[in-house]
Amino acid sequence: MATNLLGCTMSKVIILFGLWLHLVTSYKALSDETLLRLPRPGPDFDIHDGRILAPILRTRVPDTPGSAAVRNHFIDFFRSSLPEWTIELLSFTAITPVSGGRNVRFTNFIAFRDPPGAEEGNTTRLTMVAHADSKLRPTGFIGAIDSAAPCAMIMHAARSIDKALTRKWSYGDNSPAVAQGVQIIFTDGEERFSDPPVDITDQLYGSRALATDWEMQKYPSTARYADRLASISLFVLLDLLGAPNPAISSRSNVTNWAYKNLARLEGRFRDLGGFQSTQNKTDISAARSWFIDRGKGAHELEPDHILDDHVPFADRGVDVLPIIDHHPVRGFPRVWHTLDDDGEHLDIAVVGDWSLVVSALMAEWLELEGYMDDHNT
Ligand SMILES: [Zn+2]
Repeated sequence: MATNLLGCTMSKVIILFGLWLHLVTSYKALSDETLLRLPRPGPDFDIHDGRILAPILRTRVPDTPGSAAVRNHFIDFFRSSLPEWTIELLSFTAITPVSGGRNVRFTNFIAFRDPPGAEEGNTTRLTMVAHADSKLRPTGFIGAIDSAAPCAMIMHAARSIDKALTRKWSYGDNSPAVAQGVQIIFTDGEERFSDPPVDITDQLYGSRALATDWEMQKYPSTARYADRLASISLFVLLDLLGAPNPAISSRSNVTNWAYKNLARLEGRFRDLGGFQSTQNKTDISAARSWFIDRGKGAHELEPDHILDDHVPFADRGVDVLPIIDHHPVRGFPRVWHTLDDDGEHLDIAVVGDWSLVVSALMAEWLELEGYMDDHNT
């Protein structure tokens, strides 16, 4: 009996190991040529008149004209540049500690694209996330790294892979066991209103509402996924990106392997000379990897204490990959939550390099190698 039990357990271990190996090895790496061919944002990220970034570099406190203008910018961009994507807006109201009992309206922006004919409950989606709102105080706060630049990076990356998705799916290559789509979330109300903080619930308004809503959106019992939350393959959160010499920790032992894949991509860009932020710099720190935990195993990670939009999703069992610039010793970037967090203080070379890394992450996860080049397919 004991032998049987042991044998049974061993076979389970072997099956699980095989499954793990398959999951890891099925992640097809992009070629050097593809990495080097990924477009940089260029003039679209000009801080004064760049088509993607400039319209986000303004105050955009929830339920203000600035917030509406930025949301309209997102809608215009997707309608004109990414017409195959479906846009959703999730609005709700909440009272904040500074609203004097008045309901404040929050609106999450969502855009997604699935393979042709994919059924909602049977489609898994890579999910790219940043927050769209800016902080109420200090007055005039722009939040360029927090999180205008991350929104722009995701928009640029989505545009960079969109034609390849069309090519892949038009060649009939949409027949894996699980249909794989992609979605973008720009949350509202990530920032707290009160200063100093009075209440832990005075933040993450949009992500909490969305996680709750999607958990309740049940798919039919015959569907592969129970609800919209369960259909998220990986929740990638970008926050506080665009300052020089970023330091990104691995914050989840479940997704440490995806963190390492991202660190590998970043290292390959460096080795291939694809980064602008490392060129013509005498500063030795510019040559260091941004991914400071890349050598650590999943069991060696520090606990994640940062409360950000990934938390309501992680709490409900979603695999999250938070990419947040926070150094264990020096903390958040120097301009964090100050008026200096504006367009002029962005390290635009770093912003461009991040855009490449984000584009590569999306292209690799969606297995677009062989479809990225306009001329080969
Ligand atoms: Zn912030």
